[in-house]
This record gives sequence, structure tokens and C-alpha cells, in this order.
Amino acid sequence: MKIIYVDNNATTKVAPEVTEAMLPFFNELWGNPSSMHTFGGQVAKHVERAREQVAKSIGAQRASEIIFTSCGTESDNAAIRAALATQPDKRHIVTTTVEHPAVLNLCQHLEKREGVEVTYLAVDNKGQIDLEELKNALRDDTAIVSIMWANNETGTIFPIEEIAQITHERGILLHTDAVQVVGKLPIDLKKTPVDFLSLSGHKLHAAKGVGALYVRRGTKFSPYVIGGHQESGRRGGTENVAFIAGLGIACELAMKNMDEERNRVAGLRDKLEAGILEKVQRVTVNGDRDHRLPNTTNTSFESIEGEAILLMLNEYGICASSGSACTSGSLEPSHVLLAMGIPHEKAHGSIRWSLSRYTTEDEIDFILEKLPPVIEHLRKLSPVS
Ligand code: PLP
Repeated sequence: MKIIYVDNNATTKVAPEVTEAMLPFFNELWGNPSSMHTFGGQVAKHVERAREQVAKSIGAQRASEIIFTSCGTESDNAAIRAALATQPDKRHIVTTTVEHPAVLNLCQHLEKREGVEVTYLAVDNKGQIDLEELKNALRDDTAIVSIMWANNETGTIFPIEEIAQITHERGILLHTDAVQVVGKLPIDLKKTPVDFLSLSGHKLHAAKGVGALYVRRGTKFSPYVIGGHQESGRRGGTENVAFIAGLGIACELAMKNMDEERNRVAGLRDKLEAGILEKVQRVTVNGDRDHRLPNTTNTSFESIEGEAILLMLNEYGICASSGSACTSGSLEPSHVLLAMGIPHEKAHGSIRWSLSRYTTEDEIDFILEKLPPVIEHLRKLSPVS
């Protein structure tokens, strides 16, 4: 059966160009990039090339501002822990209620186990924070503000430029989890004064198990993964060279046709959304439709469970999601939708559709053909319908 994959905020297909770029590092260039010999040195050159490619894709001033990590989760943990470790007198963090568990669960752990105070900023019904509330939450002992650039479930984009202005003026470090933004929207860190930025390979057509943390030059840093002196002493552990080389190529590919791709994908997303609203009754779109990732829409279908919809779509090879990959599998509705004030029943009936550069118009047409009868069928069975 053909797979219609519209779950790209969970993970993406590895681009063929990325696979090709990774292959030489398994059988030919398999040396250790930290070795003194020429063989190792050759490999190190490829790591440094990838560092430059990643740096360029986010407008970093220098390649040395990039530290390779194992994933977005590690990058998030490394940034927040570095801010606490380098400012031991500051024990307060500001974040939002809609962060990915990579940030939220760490913050809850720090509160419970390490005596750190955390302020969780509320969001409105579009998933946006109030910047006045952010200003009021900042304290002299705030070590770091950690706010995602865009939400993985609704696609809502936060005004990171304005947020960076606010934190910068107060001299407080800013981390942004840009895992869902890198490769989808242009980023220029020369203009946006964030101190830390997390990204993850598998969200932009590189492999799973590689990520990066941007650390602005001059920002104090303390390694989270402690071991050898790799990554200029900022992250222990031999670099995953093949995946790092692939990440570099993935960043380059994303940059190449970004404007064109962004418009094409947004057009398909809009077609899907408009088609759903036209063909299905009692549907609402969750998130900020004016400030949203081009590839994402999140829809709530009244009176039915998102999981039931997913199971029926799965029969047609359609892969979507009813929350983040981490929350699906539990019966709790998405914390993001609940934080936006969406009632439990409605949040339970939500589906996240996330497209990619490989999504085609035929696939959108296929979804629009199969979805309405699925909803109709489930509503007939639903006791609350
Ligand atoms: N942050 C956001 C916004 C995400 O969407 C994800 C993955 O879903 C992560 C962090 C975690 O990234 P990784 O899977 O690379 O650890």
C-alpha cells in the first residue's frame, strides 16, 4: 500500500541527497575526526564543512557557534543546563505552557529535584503568549528564558525577534527551540539576538539521532555531555560523522529552494484545510492561522476521537497524528490544545496534519476523498454525536 505521509512534524523522510552524502563515512572515510593522522584529519574536514553549512542556514556569524549533539532534546537540555551552570546565583527560568516535553519535562524535573523556580507563561486561544506577561515574569535571578520558535502541534509561530529584544534589554539569556522552524522558514541570527538555538536533523530530512545547538559567541557555556574534548570541549563523545555530514547537506538543500518550497507547501496545506472545512461539518482549526508554519494545520472534529480517525485513515495508508509523537499512545489530550483553552472533548478529536517537500497534490486529493466518509462513519457510531 502506498504511504501518504502527513506527519512530518514527527519525523521526515531522509532526502536521497542526504543518504548519499552519509554513505562514504561508513566504508571509506571511517576515521575518528579527533585523530592526529591524515586519515582522521580528512574526516574532520567534513565535520567542519557541515558546521559551516548548518551555521549558514540559520545566519550564525561563525561556524564555531555550532555544537553537534545527538538530537533536539539534547540541545534543549544542554542550553538550559548551561545557563544554570554558568550562573549559579540565578535559579529561575521562564518558559511557556506549550513547549515540547524536551523543555517542559526538564523544567518540571529542575523544579522538583533541583530547587529551580519556573514560570510557565500562559497562551491565548491561538497559542500566543502575552509579551507584557513575559516582561513581568523576568526577575533579577532569571537564568534563562526558553521559548520555542514555533509549536510542533499547531504550527503557531512565536515573535522571537520581539522576545529577543525584551530579554536582551534585561540582559537575560534566551534559548529558542527552533526544531520545527529550521529548514521551513528563513532564520537570520545576525538580526535576532538569541543566545541559544536548538535544531534537530530528522525534522528537516536528515537522519534521526543528530542535532545541533547554536551558542552565540561570547555566551558562557558549560557542557552537558561530559567526556572527551570533542566539539572544542563543549560536548563529549566522538562525533556521529556520517549523520553530521548528512545534516549539513540537509540544511543546504532546505536553503536552496526555501521560498519556492514554502509557498508550494503552504498552498497544499491551505488546500487540505479548505477542503476539510468545506466537506466536513463541525470542524475547527486550532492555532494562529496568521502566524503559522507553512506545513502545519491542526483540526478538531467534534464528537469523535482523534485516535479513531487515525486508525481508519491508517487503513488507507494515510499517516497523520493526534498530538506530538511523544503524547500519542497516551489517552491524555494534547497539553498544547488544553493550554489554549480548548475543551477536553474537542482536544480529543484533534488531528495534526504536517506536510513536507515530498507531499504532492494527488496525496492531498486522496486525503480529501477518504476523510469525509471516515468522519461520517465515526459520528454515526458516536454516542455523543
Ligand atoms: N522540540 C520540538 C519542538 C520538537 O517538535 C521535537 C520533536 O518532536 C523536539 C524538540 C525533540 O527533538 P528530537 O526528536 O530530535 O529529540
